[in-house]
Amino acid sequence: MTWRWRLLEAECTGCGICADVCPDGAILMTREMPLPAPVSGRCTGCRTCVHECPFEAIVVEAIPGPAVR
Ligand code: SF4
Ligand code: SF4
Repeated sequence: MTWRWRLLEAECTGCGICADVCPDGAILMTREMPLPAPVSGRCTGCRTCVHECPFEAIVVEAIPGPAVR
């Protein structure tokens, strides 16, 4: 299963919580970045970031087919 991580930019405040809580290092956020970005192929679809984002700014969707690494 491949997972598509999508940011609703209008909702995101750039707080960085999602990058901190992701157990798989699938979200990149540095001090220089205004918004978080997904790291290709690392998301396991656990949805921790979806639940922990205070602003409901993340959508994680399953994409049928083999994982893209
Ligand atoms: S936790 Fe939500 S609001 Fe904060 S940086 Fe991540 S997506 Fe944006
Ligand atoms: S769904 Fe889980 S693995 Fe994927 S980016 Fe969010 S916290 Fe990380």
